[in-house]
Amino acid sequence: MRDLLNRPLRSLRLSVTDRCNLRCRYCMPEAHYEWLPRENLLSFEELTAVVDAAAGLGADRVRLTGGEPLLRRDLPALLRRLAAVEGLRDLALTTNGLLLADLAAPLAAAGLRRITVSLDTLSPERYRALTGRDALPRVLAGLEAAAAAGFAELKLNTVVLAGQNDDELPSIVAFAKEIGAEPRFIEYMDVGGATSWTPGAVVSREGILRRLEAAFGPVEALAKTSAPAQRHRLLDGTVVGVIASTTDPFCARCDRARLTADGVLFTCLYARSGIPLRDALRRGEDPAALLRAAWSRRTDRGAEERLRLGRSRLPLAPASALREDPHLEMHTRGG
Ligand code: SAM
Ligand code: SF4
Ligand code: SF4
Repeated sequence: MRDLLNRPLRSLRLSVTDRCNLRCRYCMPEAHYEWLPRENLLSFEELTAVVDAAAGLGADRVRLTGGEPLLRRDLPALLRRLAAVEGLRDLALTTNGLLLADLAAPLAAAGLRRITVSLDTLSPERYRALTGRDALPRVLAGLEAAAAAGFAELKLNTVVLAGQNDDELPSIVAFAKEIGAEPRFIEYMDVGGATSWTPGAVVSREGILRRLEAAFGPVEALAKTSAPAQRHRLLDGTVVGVIASTTDPFCARCDRARLTADGVLFTCLYARSGIPLRDALRRGEDPAALLRAAWSRRTDRGAEERLRLGRSRLPLAPASALREDPHLEMHTRGG
């Protein structure tokens, strides 16, 4: 199944909850949020039916995200269901790690293969300032549990923010190496709650590589894959991913769709509106037909369109628009 730009649907991101136990400044900076009503959340049966349909259409990768996915009650039970979906080759999850110390082992036992933990700083004070919670020790305990749980892959996600944590890239690489994780540095994006985003706050891939080269010497770019991260090798063999979603978007190769916890399908992270699947699912309509219809008219190239705006670019949505439509939030549609 191909979209109008000849891109297949290979990957589905499921936001399993819009709630979060952190308030990262670049994602959830407001004091109050209205949560999606609980009765609107897709059940595990409904989520599995959508994944099953996507797998039948050629999608072979699923990533659980949010909000904070570990806040969804009984998450290992969902993973057990998804792990049994035929045709699915890859089951992954992105988490802030706060609840991971207790959940790493049950998640691994339920069939989760790959886990990514978001960590923007190794300084407890900065962590508190960036996320609103004094929770760095909990994340470190979560990472320790993840390293011991036997996942096939452990990654660290770091959003690089000019003047806030861009001096820490070498220490994050060293820390990742110590715990057996692959570090990935992400350019700051202007989506959802990033209402104070400015072009000047972005550290570009070039800037990230310059900082790595200053610390570690020449950095070699590895062959590109369909993954958003371009991987680079340091002289000692350490591999570091850089996701240049802002300065060098990968829309031309983008093969992913996102589903909000209340069943709205977004075919682009930057899309202003999505396709509501929940009511159709609850009326007994075939999820495969719904997905096929949505994908077959897809033309999204959101990040490329944003890039063309140049230095005059403002955040995608002001706080007032986010309050009116929470589906515009990153924590609702899944990062
Ligand atoms: N709560 C989980 C977490 O933080 O890992 C999962 C959801 S979060 C939205 C997924 C990823 O999106 C995180 O790695 C986060 O750092 C990233 N993210 C959120 N807002 C971003 C922004 N404005 N620019 C770049 N990455 C962002
Ligand atoms: Fe931070 Fe993730 Fe929560 Fe957003 S959803 S506030 S990135 S922990
Ligand atoms: Fe895909 Fe949209 Fe992101 Fe481009 S901006 S890579 S089309 S999700």
